[in-house]
Amino acid sequence: MTHVLAIDIGGTKLAAALVDRSGAVLRSSTVPTPREDVFGALTLLITEVIADGPAPVAVGIGCAGPLNLASGTVSPVNITSWREFPLRERVRELTGLPTVLAGDAQCFALGEHWLGMGGESASMLGIVVSTGIGGGLVIGGAPLLGPTGNAGHVGHMTVNPDGDPCPCGSRGCVESYASGPNLVRWALANGWTAGPSPDGAMLARDAASGHPVARATFERGARALAAMIVSTAAAIEVTHVVIGGGVANAGPVLFDPLERAMDELAGFAFVRAVEIRRSKLGVQAALAGAAKLAWSSGVATAAPPPGPHDAR
Ligand SMILES: [Zn+2]
Repeated sequence: MTHVLAIDIGGTKLAAALVDRSGAVLRSSTVPTPREDVFGALTLLITEVIADGPAPVAVGIGCAGPLNLASGTVSPVNITSWREFPLRERVRELTGLPTVLAGDAQCFALGEHWLGMGGESASMLGIVVSTGIGGGLVIGGAPLLGPTGNAGHVGHMTVNPDGDPCPCGSRGCVESYASGPNLVRWALANGWTAGPSPDGAMLARDAASGHPVARATFERGARALAAMIVSTAAAIEVTHVVIGGGVANAGPVLFDPLERAMDELAGFAFVRAVEIRRSKLGVQAALAGAAKLAWSSGVATAAPPPGPHDAR
């Protein structure tokens, strides 16, 4: 049985796993993302996961963006010590293995398509609604990455050209309406109170128990998400949308108004037919997608038989 090494890199944790061709995880480990020497922590994690196991034949990495697939470099917003960091090359040097890289939300989408809620979809959009909003497209079973790897940045689609400026440089981005921190910010500005450290989970609980401002906040965020989804569906005929991330845990207080807004905003029959689902794999989706990226990129099958390499 051959395996690939899957790696998921985010601002809060680093995860790695040995994954076989069916998606089964042989072994895995997770560590918090340190503030400094992130690559040192990643090196220890990789060494731990591949020690004494079957040698993997390739590596797939999902990393928080922005990134540049042309150069293999990453500059994750929440990993400030990495700017234009040559991640793909450094991991290739460390492991001696063919290495492929994509965005973490692209890997989320690919993982859900492979093992989660997107299985039979010919044209799927995966959305991660969390501190920010990321996305990835899986078309005909393959990830649509774009020339520099930035396809699927649906959180920064403008849903209101006259809206507030966004840190990305645009205006009225869906993220400024529907990300966790922006939901909380709008609720607080409109009279919701929740003690000294309010968060999205508290807002979701209050919405579920009928607090009018909390409910209105999710309605507003859901409308922005629906506007983005119908636009994406109109552009590339998405048939399925899988939504994950911490904000998706709000459940019906998010998904019910989202379905209503879809009914209102979707026009053409092919847009009205879009099916929205909640993530099945949760935090494991990006790791699964990183493994699928390695399996489907051709590097795993093209790799020479595994032998000793630098990290052993
Ligand atoms: Zn933006």
